Amino acid sequence: MSRCPSCASVSTCPICSSAVQDFSHVGVRGNESSFKIPIIDYTISTGGNPSGIRHYARPCGHRIVTAPVSADLVYNGGPLWGNGYTWVNIFWGTFYADKTSQSWISRVNRATSNIETDQSYSGGLKQYNVGMGRLLGSTVVPADPPATISNAELAKQLVSWISSGIAKDVGSKGAYNVFLPPVVSLTLSSESSCAVFCDYHDTVDGAKGPFYTVEPYPCSSGCNQCTSSEFDTLTMGLSEELIELKTDMNPGTGWVIGNEELCDFCDKHFVCNKLPTGEYVNAWYDRAKGACWAVR
Ligand SMILES: [Zn+2]
Ligand SMILES: [Zn+2]
Repeated sequence: MSRCPSCASVSTCPICSSAVQDFSHVGVRGNESSFKIPIIDYTISTGGNPSGIRHYARPCGHRIVTAPVSADLVYNGGPLWGNGYTWVNIFWGTFYADKTSQSWISRVNRATSNIETDQSYSGGLKQYNVGMGRLLGSTVVPADPPATISNAELAKQLVSWISSGIAKDVGSKGAYNVFLPPVVSLTLSSESSCAVFCDYHDTVDGAKGPFYTVEPYPCSSGCNQCTSSEFDTLTMGLSEELIELKTDMNPGTGWVIGNEELCDFCDKHFVCNKLPTGEYVNAWYDRAKGACWAVR
């Protein structure tokens, strides 16, 4: 989307003063750390990196913070995930080509499949006219990404994997999860993964896609409020991005609550949830119940 209600009237970048043509919108999970104080059981949020739809001015690329016009839950008419849509997992780096990574890859693939096919967690999105799909397959790209990679570079790489057949072409009826190896830093404008955000989802070309999520190697802090397991950190991020991509494929044009997507809202009221299949997942806002999704 080029403009949403919250950025409709911004014509000049407050950072560099250049003219703003439009905005790129990215669904980002911030690494804000909320934590529970056991004694009074009260959740406190800290830090200035909340989750939400972030605005990057074009062409200058600066991130601009815009206030939401409304805090109502609305559907803005954009593409939604349909029944039978498919995910393709891409593991990028020689790290994943190594035999010792095999079990990690299998676990991540199983988790992707379990999250997507959970009748309550994923199936509950039916209330938003969002369907359930499956994991189509996974591929390892045995070449190393640069030590620092921008979202734009990553998008370009994804397009080339699809056109060369390295990644199956799911068109607009599916999406890709790109998993980065350890140490590689992902950037959105001047902000870096783990320092400011955990993960995000985006699209290469608006409503046409390809649609994708990016999961940096699990950050050591700020992205897991439940356990100290790297794998749990990954599934919390992955589950949130899967849900938000499904419900808001072209960020800002699907189901949103002001500048937040459905899990962002629940990140502020965080509760640890684990699927019956064992994966920790982040909650989404359940409109039918008027509360954040919770495992039974
Ligand atoms: Zn906007
Ligand atoms: Zn600027």
